[in-house]
Amino acid sequence: MNYDAIVQHCRELLEMLPAQAVARAREKHPDVRGLAVFPVYAPVEIIHAAKLMPVGLFGVGNKLEISHADSRFQSFICSIAKSTLELFLRNETDGIEGVVFSSICDVARNLASLVKRNAPQLLVEYLHLPQNMGNSGSAAYTRAEFERFRTNLAAHIQRPITDASIAASLDVYNKVRHLIRALYARRKEHPGSIPTADLYAVVQAGTRMMPEDYLPILEAFLSEARRRNPRPRDSVHVVLEGAFCEQPPALLIDTIEGAGCQIKDDDLVVGFRWFQEHVGCNGDAMGALAEAYLHCSVYSSVRHDWRHRRTEGLLRRVQDAGAAAVVFTPAKFCEPALLDYVPFVEVLDKNKIPHIKLEFEEKMWTFEASRTEVETFSESMLFE
Ligand code: SF4
Repeated sequence: MNYDAIVQHCRELLEMLPAQAVARAREKHPDVRGLAVFPVYAPVEIIHAAKLMPVGLFGVGNKLEISHADSRFQSFICSIAKSTLELFLRNETDGIEGVVFSSICDVARNLASLVKRNAPQLLVEYLHLPQNMGNSGSAAYTRAEFERFRTNLAAHIQRPITDASIAASLDVYNKVRHLIRALYARRKEHPGSIPTADLYAVVQAGTRMMPEDYLPILEAFLSEARRRNPRPRDSVHVVLEGAFCEQPPALLIDTIEGAGCQIKDDDLVVGFRWFQEHVGCNGDAMGALAEAYLHCSVYSSVRHDWRHRRTEGLLRRVQDAGAAAVVFTPAKFCEPALLDYVPFVEVLDKNKIPHIKLEFEEKMWTFEASRTEVETFSESMLFE
């Protein structure tokens, strides 16, 4: 497949609801079933080792009308919570064994309980991820939490999930993350070689297929991207921050890049590319995953690590990308993103790094206001 065909294929997968993506995967893997993963991070290696397909839950965009979930939630809540509940209330779960949430915010906690109550036939797991990364007991605690997940999942599907299969899955996901890191590096070094809307589609589509089918697509896309060398254009190089959970509409990303900004780094779909380095197994895959969560994770507004401030993480991301500005893209009503917005802005102002905020929600129909804002922002920087 060439570059355009890959992007097109990935966009088609993203048009599918999670159950439809599982049905598509079953055309090639007739016995496979899915396990839905609510963002941000989950140990997908354990799910894959259970011979299940980890399926990203990133809301439903404009694909489904929200008619049931509205009555279960207050109105001032992020779209992804409502649309995820809507999926389960409508039983859009064919071929899906269950869903895993984690302790990212109060909304996700309540959502997990609501799904459990309304979909009793499914396995609904809630991972209590560690809040203290540097304590002497943190590694044992994290491992125990991952082990609890493995035990409950194995009991639900009624087959064991062996250490050897987790090690094999870790190997597969290491390769996936390595290729995605290479794509991110390519975009950073050759701005414009991969429009971010394309990269976004390809990375997110990885949550809609088996990773072994995804690897050749990533390899082909990387080799195509390395051949592309578009002429540089006048633009402001920016970092995108704040869309780590609910994902912005692709048209918003297009709008940002079409209105004078070139995105050099971002936190889109970050949970599926969570580890910054290769995770060595050393004969103990579960221990390796726990250690990697504690010491090798990206910074994120839903992960609290007193050893490394998130404000430092953002500054480093801007510097490493050679970016001149930051575009904040928090989902509407996303507490972790909006709470971090305050210290982030403080540190950017102190370092004289311009920034702009564009909130989004799933059902956005028009992007003209965002286009005007970004155009004004980028022109003010380009022609100052
Ligand atoms: S978008 Fe924000 S508030 Fe909503 S579930 Fe995700 S982290 Fe929580």
